[in-house]
Amino acid sequence: MAENLTPPGLMPQKNGTYAITIECPNGLVAPHVLDAITGIARDLGAIVHLTTAQKIMMLDLGEAEGKQALTLLDAAGAPVRKARDISQPRVCVGRPYCSFALQETFSLGNHLYRECARIPTPPRIKVAVSGCPACCSRSNCVDLGFVGVKSGFIVMLGGHGGARPAVGEEIGRISTHEEAGVILRNLAELFSCEVKMKSRMDRVIRKLGIEEVKKRIWP
Ligand code: SF4
Repeated sequence: MAENLTPPGLMPQKNGTYAITIECPNGLVAPHVLDAITGIARDLGAIVHLTTAQKIMMLDLGEAEGKQALTLLDAAGAPVRKARDISQPRVCVGRPYCSFALQETFSLGNHLYRECARIPTPPRIKVAVSGCPACCSRSNCVDLGFVGVKSGFIVMLGGHGGARPAVGEEIGRISTHEEAGVILRNLAELFSCEVKMKSRMDRVIRKLGIEEVKKRIWP
């Protein structure tokens, strides 16, 4: 009976096919993972889609092919998304690659991914990092955004996209990665306590008030 269960990481689609999502922290993909994805897509007939959240989706897999693909991806060390958790931040390229950048972004993106990506949280928390206020990674329109300025990162809270998009509120500045990690962990805890499935951070802010939320998450 157990062998008929859909394994974690294999997502049934409405059209009867299966999908797999591969995380790409900082929007980067290791060459050996890319090789594995290319080979699997070619051999098993999958479509490869680059998502707006800087992940790679393999689409149009049959169930058997999906299970085979999961095994091959795991063997290649590909970080397949298998649970509802905070997931990877969306990160712009930052210093030294962008001439407008005021901050380097990959190390903060790595820190947040390494420290916080597997924290289980009922609703989704979207996190983004940008190297300057241009916010190319939409760090001003996510639940928790870090926006590079000369003296560190501005922290923005409660933004979101959707049919009625909203810009987050600036709640302060940080200068270390550790502070960013503490804020994200505290936010996940608060979020899990205060909201139901499918709710979003801006509703928590409306309910508690921005000052109370800041008091509960600031390091
Ligand atoms: S947000 Fe700033 S640093 Fe990042 S890619 Fe855009 S312009 Fe460059």
